[in-house]
Amino acid sequence: MPRKIPSVTISRLVGYLRVLTGLEQSGVDYVTSEELGAAARVSAHQVRKDLVHAEASGTRGRGYTVAILRRELSSLLGLTRDWNVAIVGMGRLGQALVDYPYFQNYNFRLRCGFDNDPSKVGRSFGALQVHDTSDLAKYVEELGLDIAFLTVPVNHAQSAADALVNAGIRGILNFTPTVLQVPQDVRVEPIDFVAGLKRLAYYLQPAG
Ligand code: NAD
Repeated sequence: MPRKIPSVTISRLVGYLRVLTGLEQSGVDYVTSEELGAAARVSAHQVRKDLVHAEASGTRGRGYTVAILRRELSSLLGLTRDWNVAIVGMGRLGQALVDYPYFQNYNFRLRCGFDNDPSKVGRSFGALQVHDTSDLAKYVEELGLDIAFLTVPVNHAQSAADALVNAGIRGILNFTPTVLQVPQDVRVEPIDFVAGLKRLAYYLQPAG
């Protein structure tokens, strides 16, 4: 069981990891909490406080060693092991996600897709084979699936989520615009880009 860290802190740690990965790729060896904070848009004080969770220690003046800190954060976030991922709902969005390779950089392995449309079951999109949703439990066991991207129409979202939970999936990245009811030991992360648009609309309003 991972240490209990507040959800907002996890979001910031994920942000630091993104910055550190970029720094490492650019050949940068050291980063101070001021630099990391500026890149992640939080204060240096907050960075230092958050990095206590990773048991990271910097050196006064020189800061943190980028490669070590990146490794420590990856380990804390559970990114040093493979996570087996399936896409449930192989429509427009499901198919677009197959073509998005970047999450594979973080040990997320896209294993298969599921759909209940007979015209999609048995087909492949890229290298991804689509199975019948009724075979979920079998493939969860066979492929050791941990996580599902949920990309079904909104009116099928809860029933598909129930099927995922019953099959043993513990993490759902929910692209559907609805709040899913799941047991406490299942984690749902919503991806709602329309919510982002609504926030933009609020901030873009003329002052008045
Ligand atoms: P879509 O209609 O193109 O595809 C949905 C797929 O889900 C179809 O292949 C369908 O056969 C399958 N499906 C239906 N019920 C299922 C079930 N119980 N189990 C497995 N598969 C099932 O829809 P889309 O445009 O890809 O959108 C999917 C979801 O993502 C929707 O909830 C939508 O609101 C959301 N979304 C879509 C976009 C987008 O750009 N298309 C963007 C953000 C969010």
